[in-house]
Amino acid sequence: MRTIGFIGLGVMGAPMADNLVKAGFDVVGHTRRPDGADRLVAAGGRRAGSVAEAARGADAVITMLPDSPDVEAVVLGADGVLTHCDPGTLIIDMSTVRPQTARALAAAALDRGLESLDAPVSGGEQGAIDAVLSIMVGGTAEAFARARPIFEALGTTIVHVGPAGAGQLVKAANQLVVAGTIELVAEAIVLMEASGVDPALGLEVLGGGLAGSTVLARKGTAMRERRFKPGFRVDLHHKDLGIVLDAARTAAVTLPAGELVAQLMDAVRRSGNGHLDHGVLIRGVEHLSGRDKTAGGSAAAGGSATAGGGAAAGREDASGRVSASGWER
Ligand code: NAD
Repeated sequence: MRTIGFIGLGVMGAPMADNLVKAGFDVVGHTRRPDGADRLVAAGGRRAGSVAEAARGADAVITMLPDSPDVEAVVLGADGVLTHCDPGTLIIDMSTVRPQTARALAAAALDRGLESLDAPVSGGEQGAIDAVLSIMVGGTAEAFARARPIFEALGTTIVHVGPAGAGQLVKAANQLVVAGTIELVAEAIVLMEASGVDPALGLEVLGGGLAGSTVLARKGTAMRERRFKPGFRVDLHHKDLGIVLDAARTAAVTLPAGELVAQLMDAVRRSGNGHLDHGVLIRGVEHLSGRDKTAGGSAAAGGSATAGGGAAAGREDASGRVSASGWER
């Protein structure tokens, strides 16, 4: 396993491809933006001008694309990976897509005599940069064993969770927990602000108790300071919560909190915040609380202005900070 075709060099794919180069793989990258492979080339990888070029001659092809239709087009499409890859190529989709898409991809690969894995990840951009991702893998034990050296260059928690599609199902569960936790952190911050308690101090102590979590540790300060540069875009989390609810229906289970947080995510997205980090859920809490009519939802709305009350007056600056009025876009 030496040459890897890597398709989709975005927020996650770019640092993942860098780490594969660092681990000694020959990485041939392709992404839609013409300059999208510059970073990979600078890191020591090679640029592919097309999907076909990335697939040909590769021992494994990794896709890290936004959504199910993107993966279907790039892997299954007429000019896609399965058409152009060599016999014996291992296909690894690391995007977050529907379990059905993962199973369709596995079946199509098998038809061509190829092995494939669904291997979505958790850990965000920083986890990708630091090569400490959690990787949840669906597929056969044999394919998992072949891919292990690749996964070890990208992450630290690597678990084979079941057959094709199982990785995506576990990723859906992950996204349910993350969305719900972000919403509750947002509500906690707004509650503290509106009550005149310093949320910086509040979050510090929450982080050391049972309320502590990776979400709180990684997102709490940025949310308190109303910094929403992605990170993980609302548009993508909205997509993921659609996968969660679809999976719930298929499994005939009821997820009331999941339904609610999916609606809240959809609401911030419809308000023009789809391109921002999912921490922007806090703007939804402010809106529902009537605290977005004043700068940062501060004293005039009933509480005292405290650290992190978010008094930014503009819409969105270069750091991704948005004002309360961003809600009304
Ligand atoms: P992104 O939008 O930053 O990157 C996707 C890349 O795919 C872009 O560079 C785009 O140009 C490229 N692309 C799209 N269609 C293409 C095509 N047809 N051919 C070639 N390139 C194409 O997205 P991301 O944040 O890197 O996320 C990628 C996947 O990983 C998504 O499924 C997302 O849900 C998942 N994910 C993201 C994060 C995160 O924190 N950003 C964390 C875990 C999982």
